[in-house]
Amino acid sequence: MKRIYLLSIVFLMNIGMINAQNNPLLGTFNTPHETAPFNEIKNEHFLPAFKASIEAGEKELEAIKSNPEAPTFENTIVALDHVGRLLGRTSGVFFNLLGAETNEELQGIAQEVSPLLTKFQNDVSLDPVLFEKVKKVYQQKDQLNLDAEQKTLLENSYEGFVRKGANLSEADKAKFRAISTELSKLSLTFDENVLKETNAYELVITNKEELSGLPEGELEAAAGRAKAKGKEGWLFDITQPSFGPFMKYADNRDLRKTLYMAYSSKSFKGDELDNQENVKRIAELRLQLAQLLGYKNYADYVLERRMAINPAGVYGLLNDLYEASYKVALQEKQEIQEFAATEGFEGELMPWDWSYYSEKLKVKKFDLNDEMLKPYFELSRVTEGVLGLATDLFGITFRENKDIPVYNPEVTAYEVFDADGTFLSVFYTDFHPRPGKQGGAWMNDFKGQWKENGVDSRPHVTIVMNFTRPTETKPALLTFYEVETLMHEFGHALHGMLANSTYSSLSGTNVYRDFVELPSQIMENWATQKEFLDRFAKHYQTGETIPAELVQKIVDSQNYLAGYLSIRQLSFGYLDMAWHTLEKPYTGSVKDFEEQAWKKTQIFPAVDGVCMSTQFGHLFAGGYAAGYYGYKWAEVLDADAFSVFKEKGLFNKEVAASFRKNILEKGGTEHPMELYKRFRGHEPTVDALLERSGLQ
Ligand SMILES: [Zn+2]
Repeated sequence: MKRIYLLSIVFLMNIGMINAQNNPLLGTFNTPHETAPFNEIKNEHFLPAFKASIEAGEKELEAIKSNPEAPTFENTIVALDHVGRLLGRTSGVFFNLLGAETNEELQGIAQEVSPLLTKFQNDVSLDPVLFEKVKKVYQQKDQLNLDAEQKTLLENSYEGFVRKGANLSEADKAKFRAISTELSKLSLTFDENVLKETNAYELVITNKEELSGLPEGELEAAAGRAKAKGKEGWLFDITQPSFGPFMKYADNRDLRKTLYMAYSSKSFKGDELDNQENVKRIAELRLQLAQLLGYKNYADYVLERRMAINPAGVYGLLNDLYEASYKVALQEKQEIQEFAATEGFEGELMPWDWSYYSEKLKVKKFDLNDEMLKPYFELSRVTEGVLGLATDLFGITFRENKDIPVYNPEVTAYEVFDADGTFLSVFYTDFHPRPGKQGGAWMNDFKGQWKENGVDSRPHVTIVMNFTRPTETKPALLTFYEVETLMHEFGHALHGMLANSTYSSLSGTNVYRDFVELPSQIMENWATQKEFLDRFAKHYQTGETIPAELVQKIVDSQNYLAGYLSIRQLSFGYLDMAWHTLEKPYTGSVKDFEEQAWKKTQIFPAVDGVCMSTQFGHLFAGGYAAGYYGYKWAEVLDADAFSVFKEKGLFNKEVAASFRKNILEKGGTEHPMELYKRFRGHEPTVDALLERSGLQ
């Protein structure tokens, strides 16, 4: 018996060791800077690694919970910040691959892993024993002598529990759960209804004459859609790639109106896919949830954790921009109206005329297209220019290291060093589309940054794009939009690479949502500065520097219809705030509510039968409730912050150092308004944005 017992122990230990040895995700990464060993990782390693990582995290949680000592900042709050490091590393590798180099197997694993991750997150954030410990520490916060970062960590930790209902009575906790459950179901229904409406609609045209004005490429795409559905002719639907070009180019006004009405009446037809009751119910449930937690309305609840702080902060911004934009929008409408008249149009411009005539005028005014700019934006030169900007501003340098494993031969890995030669970060770039890569562009990290036991553990940051590929005869030539995208994501990457926090949950891009786009959007400002472009924007064949007139055209065309575009975004912001500052449930007509909410922003006559709220997924199915203003907020911030560089010099090292020290290094360690004021000297104003967009 004894013998067998011993044997089985040995056997079990072996299994454990073999697993860890065979699963590269669970051992030490024996690579430069412990970067992910992609060459060793196989799909089948992920699920067991996730399970083992979660188990390790659960053990760490258990150790905090069962610690017999009185809860302290170190043994509870800091310990919680450290929970799940292995899981973070496993997730970092997995989710980056899921986005940039996916396959069906990985997608299947994601399905399996997602409930496990949700459960683990809930184990951390809903555990009453943990909360009691956190609360004990929080109650002594004024006696603990904490520095600013420690204070933020403690507050975040405590509020994270409280905002999920930890302080409620058992009865109210049950209500909170019921509301949350109904809300998540309703959001799904909302989205599904809009999607079903979108998918159900088609406009089939068999007479080509009716499609005059549409470019050949659009016609080809429409013929392809028809063919895919076994139909003759050309098929248009109300997805963006079909709808947008149709509204821009189709000469036939009746057809434009038909498509516009279909697009704008989604889930507003009184049938089983109608979202009017869902909109009202979602707004009501959010109000209930906020009031249960002691807030006046849902916006108060959301904005407490935003740079804007409260609805007054949001309205202040919306109103300032409104004052400057509305008159300009009306003038722009007048200009388009007059231009349309010269094209033979009679009567008042309606929404379905706007895109059509404004596009025609744009072509006439600017004579600018992608093909004219692309030769100046060869990818390798642009990359050199962008990395070089970081060198100029912050003194950091980039050195490619081919010993760092990559997940695809197209990926480049750099080591990034500070001005004094200290290692700062690993930085990956992945530029071109591939099957298995999601569309769009993003920054992410494989590993965050933190300090522990006096060691600064540096981040591994990546940017992933879908840029035009080189061809047999041409190198990769970027559109101007792609250049801006690269600048944007590189800005996020700097926020990650320069991170200098102690606690990982406050490091790098872990900041309030209405602050996270400042480092990215500010970088886009350089893209239209001749002084910067002159360094690298050279014709790939002739070497000629991009001409000044071309740069001016970029700026002018970017500001085309700035008033109208501003007012349009503001109208959505006002609508969002109206729904989420309700203090009692709204029972009237959704259409009336909407018209009232954005009345002062309208520049076209009202159209019956269309409704924005019933299809506004950002607000009712996504994470933008009481947050839509964030788009404009970020623009205000980036323009206001960039104005310091404009004033003191585009490559001014002191300004850059201050931006680095006060914003980029700080992550979410303090309230963003405090960080911003330290850089800027005062709170942001809308002036720089108005000036940049020609509204002032
Ligand atoms: Zn961004």
